[in-house]
Parts: sequence; C-alpha cells; structure tokens
Amino acid sequence: MRLIIMGPPGAGKGTQAKFVADHFKIPAISTGDIFRANVTKGTELGVKAKEYMDAGDYVPDEVTNLMVRDRIDEPDAESGFLLDGYPRTLAQVEELDGMITFTGHKLDAVLVLTVDQDEIVERLLQRSEVEGRADDTEDVIRKRQELYVEQTEPLIEVYRARGILIELDGMGEVDEVTQRIFDALDVWPQS
Ligand code: ADP
Repeated sequence: MRLIIMGPPGAGKGTQAKFVADHFKIPAISTGDIFRANVTKGTELGVKAKEYMDAGDYVPDEVTNLMVRDRIDEPDAESGFLLDGYPRTLAQVEELDGMITFTGHKLDAVLVLTVDQDEIVERLLQRSEVEGRADDTEDVIRKRQELYVEQTEPLIEVYRARGILIELDGMGEVDEVTQRIFDALDVWPQS
C-alpha cells in the first residue's frame, strides 16, 4: 500500500497518518518530522533546513527529494508507506513518481483533508503552546498557508486526474475524521 496524506498546515495529517499507517502496517513518513529531528540533532540536513522552516518556506526540492528517496529505500518501507508532507510541489510529484515506478509499484491513493483555514490558525497557535514549534507563530502560519495554496493545492488536480484522489472533511473530532478515512479507504479497490 502506497499512500499520501495531504492537507493545509494544521489539517491533522500527522495525527491521522499514524492511525492509517498502523492499520496497514506501513511506516508513516513525515518530512516535517524528519526535518525537525535533524534540526534537533544539529545534523548537516538540519542546518540546511532550519532557516527555511523557521520562515515558513519550503526546503529546496533537491534537499527534500534526496531525503525522501533515502527514507523509502529503508527496508521497513519495502511493502509500502504513507507519506505525510510530501510531495508538496509539482517537481516533487515527478520525483516521487520516478521513485515508485523504479521499484515496480504504483501509488494507491492520495488522501486530502479539507479544513477551514481560519479555524486552523487557532488550532496551530494552541499547538505551539504545547509543542513549541518555531514555525507556529501567526505570521509564519499564514505564510505556510499561502504557500500551500500556491504550491501544493495544484497537486490535488494532478491526482484527481489520475483517479486516485480521496477528498475528506478534516473538521470535527479526531476519531470522526479517522472514521471517514477508513470508510473511504475500504471502498477503494486495493491492490
Ligand atoms: P505543516 O503543519 O506546516 O504542514 P510539516 O511538519 O509538514 O508542517 O512541515 C514543516 C516544515 O518542513 C514546512 O513548513 C517546510 O519548511 C518543511 N517541509 C516539510 N515537508 C516538505 C516538503 N515536502 N518540501 C519542502 N519543505 C518541506
């Protein structure tokens, strides 16, 4: 099973990704989490990514692509994976296509969580109090939302055209959203 979960910042991708990945016994691969872990450890990758992340910008494609390629080459991702936060640009879509085709597999489905952007700012500001993420200030959140609309939303049409898009309402309680995802996936033809 090869899945992508998409949605604007704060849509709850990471939360839902874990449930879905556990269900299919595949790793949930979050590019944001990998970047943050590298920033914390002070690795070369972390140093490269930090300034972009703090400003709410996307890390350059060549950095992100290499990182994802390495991660999905790991043995635990051999039977599948759920990507959270990747691809985020059309160039990343192409890269990912190449990576998946190379292994002789295909992408099964792309989940998109739809949310109210204004309500999400509140959610993210609350999260910043709990998690203390450097990029959860109001200005940076707005920047990330703009970038999402500009660079990432166009991906939805690409995947819709391929017939693998599953759009879901991401508002409501966490378990309501989880239920919607499972309902949608169960009716999906699985390979
Ligand atoms: P969000 O809640 O904003 O979706 P993430 O945790 O997914 O946050 O990502 C945090 C930051 O990591 C992004 O704002 C960006 O700087 C960087 N990042 C994550 N994934 C990518 C990607 N695929 N391409 C470029 N930058 C990325």
